[in-house]
Amino acid sequence: MVLLTASATRFSDAVYRRRLSAAAKEAADRGVDALLISPSPDYAYLLGYNAPDLERLTCLLLPARGVPTLVLPRLEEPLARHHLGQLAEDLRFVPWEETDDPFRTVQALLEADTRRVGIQDQMWARFVLRLRAALDPIELVEAGPTLGALRRVKSPEEVDRLRKAASAADAAMAAITSEQLSGRTEREVSGRILQLLLTAGHAVAQFAIVGSGPNSASPHHEAGDRVITLGDAVVLDIGGARDGYCSDTTRTVFVGEPPQDFRSMYDVLQDAQAAACAAVAPGVVARDVDRAARRIIADAGYGELFIHRTGHGIGIETHEEPYIVDGNEEPLQSGDAFSVEPGIYLAGRFGARIEDIVVCTDDGAEILNRSSRDLVIAS
Ligand code: ZN
Ligand code: ZN
Ligand code: ZN
Repeated sequence: MVLLTASATRFSDAVYRRRLSAAAKEAADRGVDALLISPSPDYAYLLGYNAPDLERLTCLLLPARGVPTLVLPRLEEPLARHHLGQLAEDLRFVPWEETDDPFRTVQALLEADTRRVGIQDQMWARFVLRLRAALDPIELVEAGPTLGALRRVKSPEEVDRLRKAASAADAAMAAITSEQLSGRTEREVSGRILQLLLTAGHAVAQFAIVGSGPNSASPHHEAGDRVITLGDAVVLDIGGARDGYCSDTTRTVFVGEPPQDFRSMYDVLQDAQAAACAAVAPGVVARDVDRAARRIIADAGYGELFIHRTGHGIGIETHEEPYIVDGNEEPLQSGDAFSVEPGIYLAGRFGARIEDIVVCTDDGAEILNRSSRDLVIAS
C-alpha cells in the first residue's frame, strides 16, 4: 500500500542539518555527486516540510560537497521559507520564473565534473525525462539506496514517535476486537476502525483492512459488503500516522468457536511470529528473520500458504527499508524498525496474520505493539 505521509510535527533544526549532511556524505560514499529530491517522503525527511507536489518543478539539489540548494517556482518561495524557518538560512534558494527552464537551471547549478546524479524514487516521469535530456551525459541513478540507508535507522526520538503510533493502533485494535462484529459488513467495521484510529491519537487514519470468512485468505483484501457471521475468521490490519510516523498492526479474530483446524493453524502462526521476533538482533541478515518464521510454518505443512514476505520497514512511510524477505542479505542494524507479519492463507476457507512493529536494538527486538497475540474470540 503506498500512502502519503502525514504532515509531520517538526523536530529541531539540528536534526535536519544532521540529516542533510549525512545524506551528502552517504551520496559521496556511493559515488553519487548530487541528489535531486522532489517533494516526497525523502524531501520531508531531509527538510521537515512536505512541499506541495506540483506540475512546476520543486527540487532540493543536495551536492555531495557544497551548499544544499532549493530550486522552486518563485511563487512557492514564501511558503517554503515560512515552513523552513531558521533552517532556510542553511539553504541556497534558486527561485525560477514562469518563463524560465528549471531543468537548465538545475544543469547550471551542478559542478562541471558531475558524473552521477541520484533522482528521488517517486519523482514524476515528466521531470525525470526532462532532467535526463537537460543533464545528458550525466548518469541518473536512483536516490533510494542513499536515502534508504539513512531513513531505515531510527533515532531515539523517531523510535519514540513510532512507539506512540503503535500504542495508538493498539488502543484502536483493543476497542474494535471487543465490539460485536457479527451482523456488520466489513465496510462498516473498516469505517469504525478508521474512526477509532483517530480517536486513539492518529493524525491520519490510513487503512483498515477487514477480511472476513473466505476473504480473510486474501492478504490485502479491501473491505466490502460481506456481512460478518458466526464461524468467520476476520483479519484486521490497521494503521495510520501520528506526528509523521506510521503504525501498522494486524490481529486475527474468530467469530464464535473456531474449528480445530483453524486453531492448529493459528498456533503455528503464533509460534512463527514469535520466532521471527526472537531472531531479530544487530548483524542478523534480514533474510534470516524471514526464514525463522517460514521454517516453522513450512515444518507444520503450511509452507505453500505463506505467500508474502515476513515484513517491511516502517517510519515516515508504511513501507520502506529494510524489507524482511528471502534474498535480502543486508545485516540488521540497531535502530531498524520493521513489521513482523507472517500469515497463513487457505484459499476459499480462512486465513490469519499477526503483525507487530519491532525495533532492532542491541538487546534484540523491542516489540512496539502490545496487544495480545492470542486468538481473540469475538461475537
Ligand atoms: Zn501489507
Ligand atoms: Zn499491516
Ligand atoms: Zn505491514
